[in-house]
Parts: sequence; structure tokens; C-alpha cells
Amino acid sequence: MKKIIIATKNKGKAKEFAAFFEAYDIQAVSLLDMVPEIHDIAETGATFIENAVIKAEETANFYQQAVLADDSGLVIDALDGRPGVYSARYAGEQATDQANIDKVMSELAEVPLEDRTARFVCVLAIAEPGKETFHQIGYCEGKIAFEQKGMNGFGYDPIFIPNGYELTMAELSADEKNKISHRNDALEKLQAYLSVLK
Ligand code: IMP
Repeated sequence: MKKIIIATKNKGKAKEFAAFFEAYDIQAVSLLDMVPEIHDIAETGATFIENAVIKAEETANFYQQAVLADDSGLVIDALDGRPGVYSARYAGEQATDQANIDKVMSELAEVPLEDRTARFVCVLAIAEPGKETFHQIGYCEGKIAFEQKGMNGFGYDPIFIPNGYELTMAELSADEKNKISHRNDALEKLQAYLSVLK
């Protein structure tokens, strides 16, 4: 069976990726299952692509195996693309999801609906020793709401209304979100490449 390491210590993410790869007869293991433990990798890139590639290549070099790494975040047009690669730490290094949401909402306080366009972006990179790293970019287009709503999901979900919906991402079920998410879009685009894994 083909095997791939998912460069995450997040159980939820690891499970989502494992379910996806199972359908392709590829066994996905997360960093939680790997010995020895790898050092933390700093996300020093200026773009989602750079960060995903850095994580995938450093982890692949360390374990000498194929690795998939992701980097994702929220891009808001009226904020010139912010929070972008700083999504997790927009309101500070240890910022909570709520603090990040509050910062975005105050920066958009005067911005009318038509200018509140935004998208979640997910880059997935696959690195394997001796092979060229490749990546795919997934998107989920939408608008930033005027009010925070919903309890599901995480991060900026309570303020993001996907196109075609009147509910925020945090008001959708996990299944509904997974169907339209940026992560799913990137995974679907990656399908054609999975045959290169050995
Ligand atoms: P990471 O790629 O797991 O480091 O995620 C970066 C940050 O982007 C997260 O901490 C969230 O703030 C935001 N983010 C990424 N994906 C989502 C999502 O599906 N919903 C809400 N926020 C997200």
C-alpha cells in the first residue's frame, strides 16, 4: 500500500485527509504517529504556497518519505488580502479565534456589503525525496458578514458567508462545509497527481 505522511498534529485535519486518501488505497499517517518527533517548522513564507512547500519539504527530508502539507487562511479584498498568511495570528501571536474575528470586524466596520468579498484559500503541497514538489490551490469564495453567527467549524467560519448561501460557514453542518470548502477544492484538484506516489 502507498503511504503518505500528513504534516499536521491536528487530529481533525489528519482524520479528514486519511478518509480522503483511503479511497485511493493510500495510507495517510499524521505527525502524531511518527517517531522520532520532528521539530516545529516555522511558517516563514510570504505566501500560502511558500509555507506549504517549506513544511512539506522539511518533513519529507526528515523522514525520507512522501509528505503532504497544507497552509490555509482567509483573504479579504477590502483589506488588501489580509489576514492572509497571518490568519491564525492576526490579532497577535497567541490570539484566539474571537480576537482575530473582532479585529477583522472592526477593520471592516465602514465597508458596505458589495465590498466585503473574501475567500478561504488552501494550498496543499506534496514533497517526496528526490522528486519535484508540487502543489494545488483550493478556494471557497464568499463575503464577510455584518454579524458573527453560528457555532460550528473554527477560525473565521462565524463571519464568512459562502457564495450561494445566506448562512455563515459556522451555521452549516460539517458535511455541508466539507463539500464546499477550500480544502476539499484543493484535494479534488490533487486527485490527478496521486498516481505519482509510490
Ligand atoms: P492553518 O493552515 O491550519 O495554519 O490555518 C490558518 C488559519 O486560517 C486558521 O487558524 C484559521 O484562522 C484560518 N482558517 C483556515 N481554514 C479555515 C476554515 O476552514 N474556516 C475558518 N478559518 C480557517
